[in-house]
Amino acid sequence: MLLQQLIITTIVVSIFIACGKKKPSSPPAQAPASSKTFKEFEFSEDSAYQYIVKQVLFGPRVPGTDGHSQCANWILYKLSQWADTAFIQEGEVTRFDGKKLPIKNIIASFGDGSNRWLLVAHWDTRPWADQDTIRVDQPIAGADDGASGVAVILELARQWSKNPPPVPVDILLVDAEDQGPPVWEQVESKPEHWALGTQYWVKNPHRPLKSFQGGILLDMVGAQNPSFLMEGISLQYARHIVRDVWHTASQLGYSHLFIFLEGPPVTDDHYFLNIAGIPTIDIINLNPSTPHGFAPHWHTHRDSIPIISRYTLKAVGITVGTWFNQLSNVTP
Ligand SMILES: [Zn+2]
Repeated sequence: MLLQQLIITTIVVSIFIACGKKKPSSPPAQAPASSKTFKEFEFSEDSAYQYIVKQVLFGPRVPGTDGHSQCANWILYKLSQWADTAFIQEGEVTRFDGKKLPIKNIIASFGDGSNRWLLVAHWDTRPWADQDTIRVDQPIAGADDGASGVAVILELARQWSKNPPPVPVDILLVDAEDQGPPVWEQVESKPEHWALGTQYWVKNPHRPLKSFQGGILLDMVGAQNPSFLMEGISLQYARHIVRDVWHTASQLGYSHLFIFLEGPPVTDDHYFLNIAGIPTIDIINLNPSTPHGFAPHWHTHRDSIPIISRYTLKAVGITVGTWFNQLSNVTP
Protein backbone atom coordinates (compact mmCIF):
# COMPACT_ATOMS: atom_id res chain seq x y z
CA MET A 1 0.00 0.00 0.00
CA LEU A 2 1.04 3.59 -0.14
CA LEU A 3 -0.11 6.90 1.16
CA GLN A 4 -2.22 8.74 -1.35
CA GLN A 5 0.61 10.70 -2.87
CA LEU A 6 -1.07 13.87 -4.02
CA ILE A 7 -2.05 14.84 -0.53
CA ILE A 8 0.65 13.21 1.54
CA THR A 9 2.51 16.43 2.31
CA THR A 10 -0.61 18.31 3.33
CA ILE A 11 -1.96 15.48 5.41
CA VAL A 12 1.27 14.62 7.18
CA VAL A 13 1.77 18.25 8.01
CA SER A 14 -1.79 18.40 9.28
CA ILE A 15 -1.09 15.45 11.56
CA PHE A 16 1.84 17.27 13.09
CA ILE A 17 -0.37 20.30 13.51
CA ALA A 18 -3.16 18.20 14.97
CA CYS A 19 -0.73 16.66 17.45
CA GLY A 20 0.20 20.09 18.70
CA LYS A 21 -3.34 21.39 19.04
CA LYS A 22 -5.63 20.83 21.92
CA LYS A 23 -8.53 20.56 19.52
CA PRO A 24 -7.96 19.27 15.96
CA SER A 25 -9.98 21.06 13.28
CA SER A 26 -11.96 17.91 12.53
CA PRO A 27 -11.93 16.01 15.81
CA PRO A 28 -12.72 12.30 15.90
CA ALA A 29 -15.04 10.97 18.55
CA GLN A 30 -13.64 11.19 22.05
CA ALA A 31 -12.49 8.07 23.85
CA PRO A 32 -14.69 7.07 26.74
CA ALA A 33 -13.16 6.23 30.10
CA SER A 34 -11.69 2.74 30.03
CA SER A 35 -14.04 0.31 31.70
CA LYS A 36 -14.66 -3.32 30.93
CA THR A 37 -18.41 -3.71 30.66
CA PHE A 38 -18.39 -6.86 28.55
CA LYS A 39 -16.60 -10.16 28.25
CA GLU A 40 -13.33 -10.10 26.34
CA PHE A 41 -13.03 -12.25 23.26
CA GLU A 42 -10.84 -15.28 23.83
CA PHE A 43 -7.74 -14.98 21.63
CA SER A 44 -4.39 -16.79 21.74
CA GLU A 45 -1.55 -14.46 20.82
CA ASP A 46 0.78 -17.47 20.86
CA SER A 47 -1.27 -19.15 18.13
CA ALA A 48 -1.33 -15.96 16.08
CA TYR A 49 2.43 -15.59 16.50
CA GLN A 50 2.98 -19.16 15.28
CA TYR A 51 0.80 -18.48 12.22
CA ILE A 52 3.19 -15.65 11.34
CA VAL A 53 6.24 -17.88 11.78
CA LYS A 54 4.63 -20.53 9.59
CA GLN A 55 3.93 -18.07 6.76
CA VAL A 56 7.43 -16.60 6.88
CA LEU A 57 8.96 -20.10 6.71
CA PHE A 58 7.33 -20.58 3.31
CA GLY A 59 9.60 -17.79 2.08
CA PRO A 60 8.41 -14.69 0.21
CA ARG A 61 4.75 -15.01 -0.83
CA VAL A 62 5.21 -13.42 -4.24
CA PRO A 63 2.64 -14.49 -6.87
CA GLY A 64 3.97 -17.19 -9.16
CA THR A 65 6.56 -18.58 -6.71
CA ASP A 66 6.57 -21.99 -5.00
CA GLY A 67 6.41 -20.45 -1.52
CA HIS A 68 3.33 -18.51 -2.58
CA SER A 69 1.48 -21.65 -3.72
CA GLN A 70 2.51 -23.66 -0.67
CA CYS A 71 1.40 -20.91 1.69
CA ALA A 72 -1.98 -20.63 -0.07
CA ASN A 73 -2.52 -24.37 0.37
CA TRP A 74 -1.66 -24.15 4.07
CA ILE A 75 -4.00 -21.19 4.69
CA LEU A 76 -6.79 -23.01 2.83
CA TYR A 77 -6.16 -26.16 4.89
CA LYS A 78 -6.44 -24.23 8.15
CA LEU A 79 -9.58 -22.32 7.14
CA SER A 80 -11.17 -25.55 5.86
CA GLN A 81 -10.82 -26.95 9.37
CA TRP A 82 -12.53 -24.00 11.04
CA ALA A 83 -14.96 -22.23 8.69
CA ASP A 84 -18.24 -23.47 7.18
CA THR A 85 -16.77 -23.19 3.69
CA ALA A 86 -13.35 -22.31 2.29
CA PHE A 87 -11.95 -22.14 -1.21
CA ILE A 88 -9.39 -20.40 -3.41
CA GLN A 89 -10.48 -17.99 -6.13
CA GLU A 90 -7.83 -18.14 -8.86
CA GLY A 91 -7.38 -15.39 -11.40
CA GLU A 92 -4.90 -13.35 -13.39
CA VAL A 93 -4.08 -9.68 -12.96
CA THR A 94 -1.75 -7.28 -14.74
CA ARG A 95 1.05 -5.62 -12.79
CA PHE A 96 2.07 -1.96 -13.28
CA ASP A 97 4.70 -3.02 -15.85
CA GLY A 98 2.38 -5.26 -17.85
CA LYS A 99 3.54 -8.53 -16.29
CA LYS A 100 0.74 -11.05 -15.80
CA LEU A 101 0.46 -12.39 -12.26
CA PRO A 102 -1.42 -15.57 -11.29
CA ILE A 103 -3.33 -14.74 -8.12
CA LYS A 104 -5.14 -16.67 -5.41
CA ASN A 105 -7.75 -14.97 -3.25
CA ILE A 106 -8.56 -17.21 -0.27
CA ILE A 107 -12.18 -17.02 0.87
CA ALA A 108 -13.97 -18.60 3.85
CA SER A 109 -17.44 -18.15 5.30
CA PHE A 110 -19.12 -18.35 8.70
CA GLY A 111 -22.92 -18.43 8.75
CA ASP A 112 -25.64 -17.91 6.16
CA GLY A 113 -27.69 -15.00 5.00
CA SER A 114 -27.23 -11.42 3.94
CA ASN A 115 -26.08 -8.40 5.97
CA ARG A 116 -22.69 -10.05 6.10
CA TRP A 117 -19.40 -8.63 7.30
CA LEU A 118 -16.14 -8.87 5.40
CA LEU A 119 -12.86 -9.48 7.24
CA VAL A 120 -9.91 -8.78 4.97
CA ALA A 121 -6.10 -9.01 4.89
CA HIS A 122 -3.59 -9.33 2.08
CA TRP A 123 -1.41 -12.42 2.22
CA ASP A 124 1.11 -11.69 -0.57
CA THR A 125 4.42 -10.01 0.20
CA ARG A 126 6.50 -7.32 -1.47
CA PRO A 127 8.96 -8.59 -4.13
CA TRP A 128 11.45 -5.83 -3.31
CA ALA A 129 12.87 -4.13 -0.21
CA ASP A 130 12.65 -0.78 -1.96
CA GLN A 131 12.66 1.24 1.28
CA ASP A 132 15.84 -0.45 2.53
CA THR A 133 19.48 0.48 1.94
CA ILE A 134 20.67 -3.09 1.38
CA ARG A 135 19.53 -5.90 -0.92
CA VAL A 136 16.81 -3.62 -2.24
CA ASP A 137 16.06 -5.92 -5.17
CA GLN A 138 15.30 -8.91 -2.96
CA PRO A 139 11.89 -9.77 -1.48
CA ILE A 140 11.03 -9.02 2.12
CA ALA A 141 9.91 -11.60 4.68
CA GLY A 142 6.68 -9.72 5.29
CA ALA A 143 6.17 -10.83 8.90
CA ASP A 144 4.18 -7.66 9.57
CA ASP A 145 3.24 -6.53 6.05
CA GLY A 146 1.25 -9.55 4.97
CA ALA A 147 1.58 -12.30 7.56
CA SER A 148 0.30 -10.41 10.63
CA GLY A 149 -3.17 -9.62 9.30
CA VAL A 150 -3.60 -13.19 8.07
CA ALA A 151 -2.42 -14.56 11.42
CA VAL A 152 -4.91 -12.52 13.46
CA ILE A 153 -7.73 -13.57 11.12
CA LEU A 154 -6.71 -17.25 11.31
CA GLU A 155 -6.82 -17.12 15.11
CA LEU A 156 -10.24 -15.41 14.98
CA ALA A 157 -11.40 -18.22 12.68
CA ARG A 158 -10.07 -20.85 15.08
CA GLN A 159 -11.97 -19.25 17.93
CA TRP A 160 -15.12 -18.91 15.81
CA SER A 161 -14.97 -22.65 15.06
CA LYS A 162 -15.69 -23.10 18.78
CA ASN A 163 -18.05 -20.12 19.26
CA PRO A 164 -19.43 -18.86 15.94
CA PRO A 165 -19.68 -15.09 15.42
CA PRO A 166 -23.16 -13.62 16.07
CA VAL A 167 -23.27 -12.24 12.53
CA PRO A 168 -22.40 -13.92 9.22
CA VAL A 169 -18.79 -13.21 8.28
CA ASP A 170 -16.78 -13.85 5.13
CA ILE A 171 -13.00 -13.92 5.36
CA LEU A 172 -11.27 -12.54 2.27
CA LEU A 173 -7.50 -13.01 2.17
CA VAL A 174 -6.50 -11.14 -0.95
CA ASP A 175 -3.47 -11.62 -3.14
CA ALA A 176 -1.26 -9.09 -4.94
CA GLU A 177 -1.85 -6.09 -2.70
CA ASP A 178 1.83 -5.22 -2.52
CA GLN A 179 3.00 -5.56 -6.14
CA GLY A 180 2.96 -1.83 -6.91
CA PRO A 181 5.96 -0.12 -8.54
CA PRO A 182 9.21 0.08 -6.54
CA VAL A 183 10.59 3.53 -5.83
CA TRP A 184 13.19 3.31 -8.59
CA GLU A 185 10.60 2.78 -11.33
CA GLN A 186 9.99 5.91 -13.34
CA VAL A 187 6.26 5.38 -13.47
CA GLU A 188 3.50 7.49 -12.08
CA SER A 189 2.15 5.62 -9.08
CA LYS A 190 -1.59 5.16 -9.28
CA PRO A 191 -4.01 3.57 -6.81
CA GLU A 192 -4.80 0.99 -9.51
CA HIS A 193 -1.24 -0.37 -9.26
CA TRP A 194 -2.01 -1.70 -5.78
CA ALA A 195 -4.55 -4.09 -4.29
CA LEU A 196 -4.78 -6.09 -7.51
CA GLY A 197 -6.39 -9.09 -5.79
CA THR A 198 -9.09 -6.91 -4.28
CA GLN A 199 -9.73 -5.18 -7.60
CA TYR A 200 -10.14 -8.64 -9.16
CA TRP A 201 -12.55 -9.72 -6.40
CA VAL A 202 -14.67 -6.58 -6.73
CA LYS A 203 -15.15 -7.46 -10.42
CA ASN A 204 -15.65 -11.17 -9.59
CA PRO A 205 -17.20 -11.35 -6.10
CA HIS A 206 -18.07 -14.80 -4.78
CA ARG A 207 -21.46 -13.44 -3.75
CA PRO A 208 -23.24 -10.15 -4.61
CA LEU A 209 -21.48 -7.09 -3.24
CA LYS A 210 -24.78 -5.97 -1.71
CA SER A 211 -24.61 -9.00 0.60
CA PHE A 212 -22.09 -7.10 2.72
CA GLN A 213 -22.97 -4.35 5.16
CA GLY A 214 -19.37 -3.51 5.98
CA GLY A 215 -15.82 -4.68 6.37
CA ILE A 216 -12.61 -4.54 8.39
CA LEU A 217 -9.15 -4.70 6.82
CA LEU A 218 -6.12 -5.65 8.93
CA ASP A 219 -2.77 -4.56 7.49
CA MET A 220 0.50 -4.39 9.43
CA VAL A 221 -1.08 -5.25 12.78
CA GLY A 222 1.77 -7.22 14.38
CA ALA A 223 4.74 -4.96 15.09
CA GLN A 224 6.01 -3.64 18.40
CA ASN A 225 4.68 -0.25 19.53
CA PRO A 226 2.23 0.38 16.69
CA SER A 227 0.06 3.45 16.30
CA PHE A 228 -3.28 2.66 14.75
CA LEU A 229 -4.39 6.13 13.77
CA MET A 230 -7.89 6.58 12.35
CA GLU A 231 -6.99 6.25 8.66
CA GLY A 232 -8.40 8.81 6.25
CA ILE A 233 -10.25 6.67 3.70
CA SER A 234 -11.85 4.73 6.56
CA LEU A 235 -13.12 7.95 8.11
CA GLN A 236 -14.40 9.18 4.76
CA TYR A 237 -16.44 6.08 3.93
CA ALA A 238 -17.00 4.24 7.23
CA ARG A 239 -16.63 6.68 10.10
CA HIS A 240 -19.26 4.85 12.18
CA ILE A 241 -17.26 1.61 12.07
CA VAL A 242 -14.00 3.37 12.94
CA ARG A 243 -15.65 5.04 15.90
CA ASP A 244 -17.15 1.78 17.19
CA VAL A 245 -13.97 -0.28 16.82
CA TRP A 246 -11.79 2.41 18.44
CA HIS A 247 -14.30 2.66 21.30
CA THR A 248 -14.13 -1.10 21.77
CA ALA A 249 -10.34 -0.95 21.89
CA SER A 250 -10.52 1.84 24.45
CA GLN A 251 -12.92 -0.11 26.64
CA LEU A 252 -10.48 -3.02 26.52
CA GLY A 253 -7.59 -0.79 27.61
CA TYR A 254 -5.87 -0.40 24.23
CA SER A 255 -6.38 3.31 23.58
CA HIS A 256 -2.58 3.74 23.60
CA LEU A 257 -2.50 1.63 20.40
CA PHE A 258 -5.87 2.59 18.84
CA ILE A 259 -5.31 6.31 18.96
CA PHE A 260 -8.18 8.80 18.63
CA LEU A 261 -6.38 10.90 16.06
CA GLU A 262 -7.01 11.22 12.34
CA GLY A 263 -4.35 9.72 10.09
CA PRO A 264 -3.67 10.21 6.38
CA PRO A 265 -5.57 8.38 3.62
CA VAL A 266 -3.88 5.20 2.41
CA THR A 267 -4.34 3.36 -0.87
CA ASP A 268 -4.98 -0.12 0.45
CA ASP A 269 -7.45 -2.95 -0.18
CA HIS A 270 -10.25 -1.11 1.63
CA TYR A 271 -10.07 1.75 -0.88
CA PHE A 272 -11.48 -0.42 -3.66
CA LEU A 273 -14.05 -2.05 -1.36
CA ASN A 274 -15.32 1.37 -0.31
CA ILE A 275 -15.55 2.54 -3.92
CA ALA A 276 -17.53 -0.64 -4.64
CA GLY A 277 -20.03 0.30 -1.93
CA ILE A 278 -18.87 -1.78 1.05
CA PRO A 279 -17.99 0.58 3.94
CA THR A 280 -14.65 -0.80 5.12
CA ILE A 281 -12.10 0.41 7.65
CA ASP A 282 -8.35 -0.19 7.64
CA ILE A 283 -6.61 -0.98 10.91
CA ILE A 284 -3.06 -0.09 9.88
CA ASN A 285 0.12 1.00 11.65
CA LEU A 286 0.72 4.64 10.66
CA ASN A 287 3.70 6.69 11.75
CA PRO A 288 3.70 10.41 10.88
CA SER A 289 7.33 10.78 11.98
CA THR A 290 8.72 8.84 8.99
CA PRO A 291 9.02 10.27 5.45
CA HIS A 292 6.66 7.64 4.03
CA GLY A 293 4.14 7.71 6.89
CA PHE A 294 4.49 4.06 7.89
CA ALA A 295 6.60 2.33 10.55
CA PRO A 296 10.39 2.38 9.93
CA HIS A 297 10.49 -1.32 9.00
CA TRP A 298 7.98 -0.83 6.16
CA HIS A 299 9.17 -2.45 2.91
CA THR A 300 12.59 -3.27 4.38
CA HIS A 301 14.31 -6.49 5.47
CA ARG A 302 13.60 -5.48 9.07
CA ASP A 303 10.01 -6.58 8.45
CA SER A 304 10.83 -10.03 9.84
CA ILE A 305 10.03 -12.10 12.93
CA PRO A 306 11.93 -9.99 15.53
CA ILE A 307 9.67 -7.00 14.83
CA ILE A 308 6.57 -8.98 15.83
CA SER A 309 4.90 -8.42 19.21
CA ARG A 310 2.51 -10.93 20.76
CA TYR A 311 0.99 -8.05 22.75
CA THR A 312 0.08 -6.17 19.56
CA LEU A 313 -1.44 -9.31 18.01
CA LYS A 314 -3.51 -9.83 21.15
CA ALA A 315 -4.67 -6.21 21.25
CA VAL A 316 -5.89 -6.32 17.65
CA GLY A 317 -7.37 -9.82 17.88
CA ILE A 318 -9.30 -9.17 21.08
CA THR A 319 -10.52 -5.79 19.86
CA VAL A 320 -11.86 -7.15 16.55
CA GLY A 321 -13.27 -10.32 18.15
CA THR A 322 -14.99 -8.39 20.95
CA TRP A 323 -16.38 -5.87 18.47
CA PHE A 324 -17.91 -8.68 16.40
CA ASN A 325 -19.40 -10.20 19.57
CA GLN A 326 -21.29 -6.97 20.25
CA LEU A 327 -23.01 -7.01 16.84
CA SER A 328 -26.39 -8.54 16.25
CA ASN A 329 -27.63 -9.68 12.88
CA VAL A 330 -29.85 -6.65 12.41
CA THR A 331 -29.61 -4.16 9.59
CA PRO A 332 -28.07 -0.99 11.06
ZN1 LIG B 1 3.29 -3.29 1.90
